[in-house]
Amino acid sequence: MTGRIFNPSSTSLAPARQPTVVAHEGAGLRDQLQRPLRDLRISVTDRCNFRCTYCMPREVFGADHAFLPQPQLLSFEEIVRVATIAVQMGVQKIRLTGGEPLLRKHIENLIELLSQLRTPDGQPVELAMTTNATLLAQKAQALKDAGLHRVTVSLDALDSARFTQLSDSQVAVERVLAGIEKAAEVGLAPVKVNMVVRKGINDDQIIPMARYFKGRGHALRFIEYMDVGNTNGWNMAEVITGAQIVEQLAHEFEIEPVAADYYGEVADRYRYVDGSGEFGIITSVSNPFCGDCTRMRLSPEGQFFLCLFASRGYDVRSLLRSQATDNEIAAHLMEVWRGRGDRYSELRGQNQAPREKIEMSYIGG
Ligand code: SAM
Ligand code: SF4
Ligand code: SF4
Repeated sequence: MTGRIFNPSSTSLAPARQPTVVAHEGAGLRDQLQRPLRDLRISVTDRCNFRCTYCMPREVFGADHAFLPQPQLLSFEEIVRVATIAVQMGVQKIRLTGGEPLLRKHIENLIELLSQLRTPDGQPVELAMTTNATLLAQKAQALKDAGLHRVTVSLDALDSARFTQLSDSQVAVERVLAGIEKAAEVGLAPVKVNMVVRKGINDDQIIPMARYFKGRGHALRFIEYMDVGNTNGWNMAEVITGAQIVEQLAHEFEIEPVAADYYGEVADRYRYVDGSGEFGIITSVSNPFCGDCTRMRLSPEGQFFLCLFASRGYDVRSLLRSQATDNEIAAHLMEVWRGRGDRYSELRGQNQAPREKIEMSYIGG
């Protein structure tokens, strides 16, 4: 193995130390549906400065809500230790998320450590972040310097009043737009912009958003509203399907589909025929993609989650805070992944028993 990875027992960078079990068995790791492990999404905080109505409704996440106390969060060293092991087992992409990841203090230090990771064949790990961008204009350069490759920004409306209503915050939409431009300027590009579309709530923003981002070099993606968590009162009647969104856009612009770039790509992509860019559609509800889902999630307090709609996690923090060796942690991770049969979205509507689900603000998108 070339390159250097983080030695979790110290606070400095050390030569690569490869857990032997992982190196030996990780490459062929498959879950119950023969899906490899390729992506790790790390939620670094359950806190957020927004109260998006579909994610952290203020009635539930108000002043009395108990967020995780700091000692319960994984430290950067603990996160890097898990990530190091996961990379040896096939992870090629890491995405930092939350809550709002830019609220986690010194997040650039974590990025710097993660950017040292190398896959078993010596490739750098792709490092991305999903953010609401309120702090992005001020932090973009530091994130880039630390080794972040790309950002995805969540933005559900361009209209100021609508944005304020949807995010339930006092932040001006211009601040988010400035964050997007700054990210592109420092090279965190291409910037992806995610818009969750809800019927009767922000579907009138589809065309203005497309028009605004067309020609700016950023990739806008429209996302079907999902039944994540238990707090948003999701209702199928509020979902505008990807097909309906494309229909609206095709009415306004000349567009054509683009072939997928890589295995597991979640967005169906389209391009504007006039060459002014692309947009994507993420059809998690109307046309789910569980068969290609290679994502594992790590919660802020150190639990593995195997699906966005999972009701339980698998603790790894107690191992990290014990005398467990890397190989023992690797064995735990492999056992968890091998047992994975999750495909919630494919089974949606087939009378699945109602269940408590993890909140999106806890586990990240
Ligand atoms: N705070 C960051 C942000 O908003 O970008 C990162 C965490 S947020 C939970 C990640 C993504 O989940 C956002 O793009 C958000 O729009 C999406 N999301 C949250 N609830 C959703 C829902 N019910 N349906 C679809 N997407 C949702
Ligand atoms: Fe915060 Fe992101 Fe959830 Fe909005 S979607 S409340 S910005 S975590
Ligand atoms: Fe992956 Fe679960 Fe979403 Fe299916 S429902 S794509 S398994 S996260």
